This record gives sequence, C-alpha cells and structure tokens, in this order.
Amino acid sequence: MQNPLIPDFNSNINFQEFTVEKIEEAVSQIIASSKQKLDIIINVPAENRTFENTMKAYDELIALFETTYSLVYLTGYVSPLAANREIALQKLPDLGKFANEISLNENLYLAIKGYSQTSECKLLNGFKLKFVKHTVEEFERNGFALPKEKREELKIVKDKLTDLGVAFSSNISQYKDQLIVNEQDIEGLPDDYKMARKSDNGFYSIDLSYPSYRPFMKLAKSDKARKELYVKFLNRASGTNPTILKEILIYRNKKKDILGFDTYAKYALDDKMAKLPDNVWKFENQLLENIRSKMKTDYNELVVIKKNLSNDKIVGNVYPWQSSYYNHILLKTKYNVDDELVKEYFELNNVIKGIFQLCEKMFGISFEEKTTANTWHHEVKSYNLLFDNKIRGIFYLDLFPRDDKYNHAAMFPIISGRSTKNGYQLPVASLVCNFPKPTKERPSLMPHNEVITMLHEFGHLLHHLLTEAELASQSGTSVCLDFVETPSQFMENLAWNYDVLGLFAFHYKTNEKLPKYLFNKMLEAQNVGSGISTSQQIFYGMLDMELHDKYNPDNEITISEIVKKLQNEITPFEYLDGTCFEASFGHLNGYAAGYYSYLWSKVFSEDIFSVFEEKGIFNPETGKKYIDCILSKGSSIDEEDQIKAFLGREPNQKAFLKSIGI
Ligand SMILES: [Zn+2]
Repeated sequence: MQNPLIPDFNSNINFQEFTVEKIEEAVSQIIASSKQKLDIIINVPAENRTFENTMKAYDELIALFETTYSLVYLTGYVSPLAANREIALQKLPDLGKFANEISLNENLYLAIKGYSQTSECKLLNGFKLKFVKHTVEEFERNGFALPKEKREELKIVKDKLTDLGVAFSSNISQYKDQLIVNEQDIEGLPDDYKMARKSDNGFYSIDLSYPSYRPFMKLAKSDKARKELYVKFLNRASGTNPTILKEILIYRNKKKDILGFDTYAKYALDDKMAKLPDNVWKFENQLLENIRSKMKTDYNELVVIKKNLSNDKIVGNVYPWQSSYYNHILLKTKYNVDDELVKEYFELNNVIKGIFQLCEKMFGISFEEKTTANTWHHEVKSYNLLFDNKIRGIFYLDLFPRDDKYNHAAMFPIISGRSTKNGYQLPVASLVCNFPKPTKERPSLMPHNEVITMLHEFGHLLHHLLTEAELASQSGTSVCLDFVETPSQFMENLAWNYDVLGLFAFHYKTNEKLPKYLFNKMLEAQNVGSGISTSQQIFYGMLDMELHDKYNPDNEITISEIVKKLQNEITPFEYLDGTCFEASFGHLNGYAAGYYSYLWSKVFSEDIFSVFEEKGIFNPETGKKYIDCILSKGSSIDEEDQIKAFLGREPNQKAFLKSIGI
C-alpha cells in the first residue's frame, strides 16, 4: 500500500493516515529509493550522459526526497498527536544525515561534473545551463575540486567550525543572569509583569530573556536599573564567547584559504545575489549616507523628550539604555496610537478574506476552499490557488496555537512545483501561525503587526505556489538567500495602504471602516525612529562584513574595539565601555557575511512596490507582470535580472528611503 508520506503525482495528501509506523516506514523507504536512484545516475556510462538521465534525474531524486522530508518536518512541528510528533522529530536527523551524504557523494559529483563536460552540455543555455553550473559549484564549495589531502584538511576545518558554532550558540542560549530590583526600580512596569517576577522577599528578579528584557527597557522609570540590565544583557556569554568567536574567524579564514578565496566574505557571497563584498560595502555606505539626516532627526526627538522630562535643561546625550524608554514616551505623547482600538478593525476572518480579495484584485489570483480535504487538525483548512482559471497550487492554513505546536509564524513548503512526464507537479505548502483564537465573547482580533506578519508569510506562500520552474531545485522560494525575503517584504507594504485596508479593515462590532484619522496616525507613528533602527541594521551588517572581509583575527586589535568604532561611527548611541555585544550576537555565527541580506532584499521589495504605487495598486497588468517576472521564476534566471525585467531599469534605494520617511 502507498505510504501517505510519499504521495503520488498530484494526489491528495492523507494527513489522517499518518501514524508512527507510516512515518518510520516512509523514512526508510525514501532513503532506500533515493539510494537506488543515486546508483542509477552514477552508473550511467560516461558516453551516454544526458541532461535527462543525469541532471533531471538528480532533480527528481531531490524533489521526492524533500517532499517526504518536509512532511516529516511538518508533522514534527504541527501534528496534534504526540506520538507522531515524537517519532517525526526523532527521525529528522536520519533524513538530514542522508541529505548530507548526498551532498558529499564523490561519485555523484563526478557524474555531474562528467555531464558538464559533454558536448550536449556545451550547447545548453537558460535554466538548464544555470542548473548544471550551480550544482557543480555547490559541490565544489564543499571542496570536490581539491586534491585529496586538501579535502581532508577542509573536512577537519568544517568539523571544527561546526563544534565552535554549536558552542557559541549554546553559550548564548544557556547563559543565565538576572537583575534583582526593588519596588522603586520596577516602577513603570504593569502588574502582571511584576507579579510573574516577584520573589518571596519582596524583590523582583528580571532575567535576560526578551519577554523580560524588552518591556523593562521600554517601561522602567529607573535609569539606573535600565542601565544595569542593559550592561548585563550586553554581557551575555562574554566570559566564553569572545575567544570562541575569534577562533571561528580563524577557522573561517582557513576554510576560505583552502577553497582559494581572498576573504571569507568573498567565499560567502560567491553564491549570493550580491556576488562580491564590494557590492555590499557600497550598498551599506550609500544607505548610511542617505539615512544620516533622518537618524539625526530621530535622535533629536529623543533628546527633546529627555530634556522635557528632566530637571537638567542641558541634556547632552541619549544613551543606548534610554532609547527604548524615551521612544516609547515619544510614541505615547506625540503620536499616540491606541493599539487596542486598531485591533478591533482586524478580525481574523475578515483579514484572511481580505488578503484573498486583494490577491484577486492585484494579481488576478483566486482561491477555493477544499472542503473535503483531509488535514492534520480540524481547524486547519485547505485551499486551491487558481490563476488563469487553472489550479496552480494547494495550501493549508494552520492559524491558531495548540499545545506543542511550532510557536512562530512561517511558511512550510511541502511539495515543490516541477515538470514531470505526467505533467506539472503542483506546489503545496502550509502557513503555520499562532494568531489569537476566537472565544465565545470575542472573535480573533489581530494587532496590526500580526496583520503585517500574515501578509509577509503570504508573500512567501505566493512565491512558492506561483512557480513555473521546470526543476524543483529552481522552484518557488529556492532563490539566493539575499533575495528570498523580497517577495515577503513586498507584501508587508499592503498593510500600510488605505485602499487595501479598505477591503478588510472593518470594525468587528459595527462594521465601520477603519477611520482615516486613525490610519493617518498609524502612518505617522510608523516611521518614528526609522532612521535610528535602519542605522542599527547597517551597523550589524557592516560589523558582520568587517569581521569577514577585513579583520585579521591574528592582530592585536580586539573585536570589541571594532564594535566600539563601528557603533560610534554608524549609530547615534555611544558605545558603553565594559559591554561585549559581539559575544551574544548569534547572527555572527549563523549568517557569516550574510546579515546585510535583510536590508538588501528590503530595498528591492520597496523598489518593486513603488511600481505598484505608481501604476495603481490594483492595476492587473502590473500584478501580472510581477508574477511573470518574479513570482513564477524561482531561481531559473538570475534574481537581479528578474528585478530589472520587472522594473525596466536598474534598481535603486529611492523607494526604500521614502518608505522610512525620507
Ligand atoms: Zn520571511
């Protein structure tokens, strides 16, 4: 009998049939069948190699493997059945290990490299050529082009980097410290916050987790207590991680040396849209130049607030432990938006219906609920997405929290679109979110930032489902890391457009449209501090680049000195001696010369959105062009070319600057 975690071509997935046995069986079956397919590809005689029997066969192997992988992964994070979740999470590492084996399979590399040298391959162009080149490069980034002893050296370096990375992250996540404060120093925080942190002796213990740290920095009246907490927060893992970070940089340098790159950033950017560190440096510097005056205005606004609240009328600086506090007061006094009131205009069902409607109007897409589909939970709904009267993809909406469910919001890809000999395999995905559940008294009301989250994830969903890529490896969201957030950040803009909100922002009781005056206040507040927060992002991005493109870890100068220099040059907040921010900046481990991606893709998303603003949000031609040039392409053509094709010109930063109020 067919295993439900290995679905046939375009068949319905029977989530209700997932059991512990079926999950276990699927994992061993997919590994066994992938091994067979791998052998077949490897054993094709050199003179018979074709795109079909080597590249397309490899793509199919990966596609089928990833479908089962995704279903096991999804089950591990969303199944309401504890036994299914447990077995799925327990089996995931087996699948991960096998995926690693594939990427390190020398015979497979030789097969693909062999094909890349055939006369057939020399005649290829377009997505096929791109796929061959990319696949060979991917293997070679793993060291396959190197002589054997160099490869062994590389393996040792990579293992060492894995260990160092794990140590760096776990030192951050396991670090514990707290600030003990008295009644006076906790003044400003709400009662429920206080109660949850009160000890028997009447003092309060503020730990360093975000739910403790952020409200305290925003609301605590005591400047002294905020400063103390700030120092503690910036010293997380400062005893252990500076040495580890330095070692990580030393080993990354060894890695780039073995692979023949000048700097680690050059290695890291080689397979990104940015391509070269110089492009990122230019981007960051130009942006910094452009936002400087807004940053100063923002900063001065905080200084005025501080001055007004203090007896000392010659206030000089606002310090980093004061920014969130004064910013909050600024928002409350000058821009006062009542979030609770705004929420009443965003009832969840209206929002979902509204997003469907706006996709219809913007892109000519329509949706139909699949009432007979079987899903993993009775609250989960399934839909077909239609474009040009054809079903283009299938998706699930799993919107409410449950015990032990994944607790953020994300798009989980399930099946990637690709062409097969039976026709086009429809892409499948799920949105997994945690919006407030309706109660008897009140429907689910979404804060405006949750509406933005929903639109963001919907952007990823459209990118995954509207694909027309021939190959699964180039399908949907499988684009460069510094482009993947562009279609999602694009959608966030819609939450700030009054015509769009006119489709779904109705008061849940009176059905009254979101009043224009309230919307205008939201808009005004939107860009309070945007110059400062962008400068912060530029600082993170430049620090990451500095360490991976310029810094020599063997020199005397410490990483803290670099942090100090860059923070003072870029942000308006002076570096506080005795802090060690880099020790807990986990992204230095995760991104490694990739932190710039967030702003990079944001700039493109704003540039793209500006065309919609110019031509009219609901202009169907613009929407169709966006699908044609970008959403349908995946990585079958270069991301930069996709953007240029849509814009009809070189991209620039103007629209981004406008979006942050410049
Ligand atoms: Zn995203």
